[in-house]
Amino acid sequence: MKLNVDVLRYLSKDDFRVLTAVEMGMRNHEIVPSELVDRIASLKHGGTYKVLKNLLKHKLVHHDSSKYDGFRLTYLGYDFLAIKTMVNRGVFTAVGRQIGVGKESDIFEVAKEDGSILAMKLHRLGRTSFRAVKSKRDYLRHRRSFNWLYLSRLAALKEFSFMKALEEHGFPVPNAVECNRHCVVMSLIHGYPLVQVRELQSPEVVFERILGLIIHLAEHGLIHCDFNEFNIMIDDEEKVTLIDFPQMVSVSHRNAQMYFDRDVDCIFKFFSKRFNLSLEEKIDNPDNSEEDLEGSSRPCFSSISKSVGFLDKELAASGFTRKEQDDMDKFVEEGKDQDICSDDEEGSAGMDESIVRDVDSLHLLDQPGHIVEGNEEKIEENRQSCEGHLSKP
Ligand code: ADP
Ligand code: MG
Repeated sequence: MKLNVDVLRYLSKDDFRVLTAVEMGMRNHEIVPSELVDRIASLKHGGTYKVLKNLLKHKLVHHDSSKYDGFRLTYLGYDFLAIKTMVNRGVFTAVGRQIGVGKESDIFEVAKEDGSILAMKLHRLGRTSFRAVKSKRDYLRHRRSFNWLYLSRLAALKEFSFMKALEEHGFPVPNAVECNRHCVVMSLIHGYPLVQVRELQSPEVVFERILGLIIHLAEHGLIHCDFNEFNIMIDDEEKVTLIDFPQMVSVSHRNAQMYFDRDVDCIFKFFSKRFNLSLEEKIDNPDNSEEDLEGSSRPCFSSISKSVGFLDKELAASGFTRKEQDDMDKFVEEGKDQDICSDDEEGSAGMDESIVRDVDSLHLLDQPGHIVEGNEEKIEENRQSCEGHLSKP
């Protein structure tokens, strides 16, 4: 998805006020009735409607009149709210080129005032699967107002919390800087995803290091669940950094063994294929007994001494609750079994594609300022209660 942050510079306080009003309305409306937006924003002289037109022009909101006249945020609108908040908090001052695109995220470089560069990950969980999620997943049935804001926000919060907790335990992960809405800001890793690496000086050492990480995670009660060459960064010194945590589960998960083995298999297969390490027969030969496998470097899940409480205690401390964990686990698990269908409405992915972004230069954003003049505390309070609501379905 393209992200033209130039528009940010031209958005007024009223624009942000109305955009925030749409966001608040979405806590219990998929499409927020225009009158409700107007009531929340409470601009004088019907100003809301004029502003909505402007937001629509910039594709920050989507207009829907199928059932009643209303609006919802687009991903771009949600991006702008998160970016504006980050800028207001002084986390960064400029957004630069896109450095990664995943199935359910976009990653950009962002620059701090002193010129140093960080990475910003915008989660987009609804991008591919919102409709499937909405219609099939039973954990969402009781949610009257479930929407992609919730899932994307949850993914960001989970990623941020895990990154922080893992870093505190000495794991090689990016430094978790800040989290707001669906956006996580972290340190920029100077390296390449392993998938792009054709040659290693010491593939055996890197292999053992990576396998050691899987074991070390399990000892801390965690399984990455997407441990593969796309989520391992490697630098020129062949130092390994682990990224991408929204799908992690506890070793107490009922499918823990399967997830663990799958992570291990991925690494074995990749290293034997890419770097010709002779590991293949150890995993693919069905005649291998458990004993043979233990004799090789292949780790055995049941023989690892695991500390199960890590998730609950440490993550709760970083703001990720048990309830949110459960929702997220279910989303991840069920997502793997489903045909993913795209959101066919304009507005999430499709609509934003048309926006042009200059990938080569950094765009300076406005100086930090408040979203709503004179009333920012109240709006922030409402926003938090809105987020609070989203986090407690
Ligand atoms: P997804 O969940 O969409 O797979 P990832 O977190 O795996 O997203 O990121 C996608 C790509 O973005 C990575 O493969 C990597 O190239 C790049 N990337 C992500 N985080 C960072 C970072 N902190 N520093 C540098 N590059 C990153
Ligand atoms: Mg990834």
